[in-house]
Amino acid sequence: MASLPGKSVLVLGGSRGIGAAIVRRFAADGATVTFTYAGSRDAAEQLAQETGSTAAMTDSGDRDAVIARVRDSGPLDVLVVNAGIGAFGDPLEQDPDFVDRLIRINVNSPYHAAVEAARHMPNGGRIIVIGSVNGDRIPFPGLSAYAMSKAALQGMARGLARDFGPREITVNIVQPGPIDTDMNPADGPMKDLQHAVMAIKRHGRPEDVAGMVAWLAGPEASFVTGAMHTIDGGFGA
Ligand code: NDP
Repeated sequence: MASLPGKSVLVLGGSRGIGAAIVRRFAADGATVTFTYAGSRDAAEQLAQETGSTAAMTDSGDRDAVIARVRDSGPLDVLVVNAGIGAFGDPLEQDPDFVDRLIRINVNSPYHAAVEAARHMPNGGRIIVIGSVNGDRIPFPGLSAYAMSKAALQGMARGLARDFGPREITVNIVQPGPIDTDMNPADGPMKDLQHAVMAIKRHGRPEDVAGMVAWLAGPEASFVTGAMHTIDGGFGA
C-alpha cells in the first residue's frame, strides 16, 4: 500500500545512484516527486518517464538556482538533499577551486535548500540530507575535504532541528557507508581498503539507503529529529 500518498517531495540530485533509488522509492510510495540533475540529462529523463516523476535541471553548485528550485517547487512535505560530490587525494595537491565547489555542493546547497524549504513547508514537514559515515570516521588519508563537508551537515541538522522544531519540521542526516554507485563502485579500486574496516565486508545497495530515507519521511518518524542515521555495514563500528 502507498505510504506517502499525495505528498510533495523534492529530491536534489536524483538522476543516478542513491538519489535515483530515493526517487523510485518515493514514487512507488505514492508521492508526487520532482528531482534535480546537473550532468545526466538522459538518465534523468528516463527515470522521470519510468516513475512518473518530474526532472528539472539545477546545478547544486549554484546557490540562487537551488533556492529558486526549492521555492518554485511549491510547499514541500519532504525535501531530500542527496546531490554530493567526492574528492579523494592529497590535500597538498588538490585544486582549491575544486575544494570550494565541493563545499558549495555538499554544504552550502543543503543549508540554503533546507532553509528555503522550511519557509514554505507545512507543520510536520521533513528535511533529510545524505551525509556520510565519513562525517564520523575517516580510517584512511585522502578524504579531508569530503569528510569536512559531511561533518558540517551534522551541525546543520542539530541547529535547524531546534529552529524548526516548534513547527514539528524534522531535520535528519542519513550517513551511508560504501554503497555501490558510480561514485563508489562495488568493484572499484577502493573496495579492499573499505571492506577491511567493515563488519559486513561488502558494499550496500542504493535501495538500502532509500529505505531509511523513506522511513524518516513517513508517519513512524515524526519524533525523530536533529539526528544522524548511519547505514554503513559497520564501517564506523
Ligand atoms: P553518484 O555520483 O553516483 O550520483 C550523484 C548524484 O548527485 C547524481 O544524480 C548527480 O546528478 C547528482 N549531483 C552531483 N553533483 C550535482 C550538482 N552539482 N547538481 C545537481 N546534482 C548533482 O553518487 P552517489 O549516489 O554515490 O552519492 C549520493 C550521495 O550519497 C552523495 O551526497 C554522496 O556523498 C553520498 N554518499 C555516497 C556513498 C557511496 O559510497 N556511494 C557513501 C556515503 C555517502 P548528475 O549526474 O545529473 O550531475
